[in-house]
Amino acid sequence: MSMHDESGAGDGHDDEDCAHERNRPRGEFGSIARLKREEIALFVDADGTLLDIAMRPDETVAPSGLVETLDALWRALEGALAIVSGRRIENLDRIFAPLRLPASGVHGAQMRTRRDAPILVGDTAIIPADLIRSARETADRFPGALMEDKGEAIAIHWRACPQFEEEIHARLLRGLARHAAAGLSLMRGHCVFEIKSSRTSKGDALRAFMAQAPFAQRQPVFIGDDVTDVAGFAAAKLLGGHAYSVSATLPGADAAFGAPQDVREWLRSLADAPCGSALR
Ligand SMILES: [Mg+2]
Repeated sequence: MSMHDESGAGDGHDDEDCAHERNRPRGEFGSIARLKREEIALFVDADGTLLDIAMRPDETVAPSGLVETLDALWRALEGALAIVSGRRIENLDRIFAPLRLPASGVHGAQMRTRRDAPILVGDTAIIPADLIRSARETADRFPGALMEDKGEAIAIHWRACPQFEEEIHARLLRGLARHAAAGLSLMRGHCVFEIKSSRTSKGDALRAFMAQAPFAQRQPVFIGDDVTDVAGFAAAKLLGGHAYSVSATLPGADAAFGAPQDVREWLRSLADAPCGSALR
């Protein structure tokens, strides 16, 4: 029974249906309602989507029950679940330990297509040493700013000093302008600026997963909360899938969850849904 079955015919799964109903995203949800769980390949961002955002990225922890939910969901989706994050995969593994999932890190630069596969790094632009140095100097200049060197990207977090947002942005732009040919771009996220390779995106990550079992032949569903996720939304929709954001409805998203807690509860209800039942 799908949520649009208006016949009133029950199928014995009313409790599960109610759980889906409570936690579903606001907005146009009809498209996903017709999917069965075994038809879905699910791609989920980490910070701000699965995880509540902490003041510093190294303070982020998985809330109680989330690791168990993700493990159950990975099994329920027969492996077609991946975390697609701006963090390094090694960092995701620390947060979700002992669980390892298929994952992409640093906005598509890193890929691990199966939970037991090695981490591969894509063809990304190299960040010049003097750009790293100038980004570090920028962070040092503004009390509360934090520079994170991810290898394939640099992040400057300004959550603790929002008054300096525009000054930090201007300085990073000036630094990047000196490397116009380097294939790098400056991306604005939630309380963070990132200098990353223009050659990879979360959309590329989704396409790479979808080219392989167990993701191939399923319909991609991408959930994310930030500008970097928009490329993932677009890739999912181009492949006939669906996109959901968190908090604000971002470009390309069909609907928005209210908060990470709503995403976690919806994922739990999806993991618990009886095989073959339509989603809510
Ligand atoms: Mg996010």
